[in-house]
Amino acid sequence: MSTRVALTTTIDPRGGEHRKPRVALYANYLDALQRVGLTPVLVTPAHGSGNIDALLSICSGLVLAGGEDIDPSRYGEEPIPQLGPINPPRDVAEFRTLEAALERDLPVLGICRGHQLLNVFFGGSLHQDIGVATGEGHLHLQATPWGSHHHDVTVERDSRLGRAIGRERLEINSYHHQAIRDVAPTLEVSARAEDGLIEALESLEHRWVVGVQWHPERHEAEAQDTDADLRLFQAFARVVTEEKEEGRSADAG
Ligand code: MN
Repeated sequence: MSTRVALTTTIDPRGGEHRKPRVALYANYLDALQRVGLTPVLVTPAHGSGNIDALLSICSGLVLAGGEDIDPSRYGEEPIPQLGPINPPRDVAEFRTLEAALERDLPVLGICRGHQLLNVFFGGSLHQDIGVATGEGHLHLQATPWGSHHHDVTVERDSRLGRAIGRERLEINSYHHQAIRDVAPTLEVSARAEDGLIEALESLEHRWVVGVQWHPERHEAEAQDTDADLRLFQAFARVVTEEKEEGRSADAG
């Protein structure tokens, strides 16, 4: 039986030709999860809190997808002019989704916004705009095609991320204008860009909670080195499936 994992989505409040709330997600998140044998279950900001809980109760893992900026009030700041679009209903739904996943000790993979959401959820903060924070142009918002690699990161060898991908240097894509500022107390940095910016985090207090600032699911296009992207999803699938098997043997015992 295939293993189900929850996957978050956004809601466009004025989507489609009728300009009404519409659920949205790039489909390659589903491609990446299905490629490693997982069955994605979509969780949307239109689901109520009780239904988010019900969906998580039939899943063995969670992927927090990329997207809008997080409402800076979540980390105690007023918005600056360079803040991108925010989506407070999505913030509410994803905080609840993450809470429900952690209550069940499910493995969590945060991607881009999802990586930033992990940090804010656990009490960290963000740079609302990297350009404003550094006072100069930066290398993190690539103009090159979807999926192509853009800058290097150095990965901590003994981190969960390092063990997952088995590499200390890799080339990644980069589609973010925000970044981690203060790291949440229970999280640890597991990768940095060449300019020192934090590119991956993981929890010290959970079995497998990993956030990456890049998009490992966008590896079908011009990228030359897709091995590390695939290995990250394979590691997530492995830990998600292990938990399920442990649960089963515990039930049997
Ligand atoms: Mn980057």
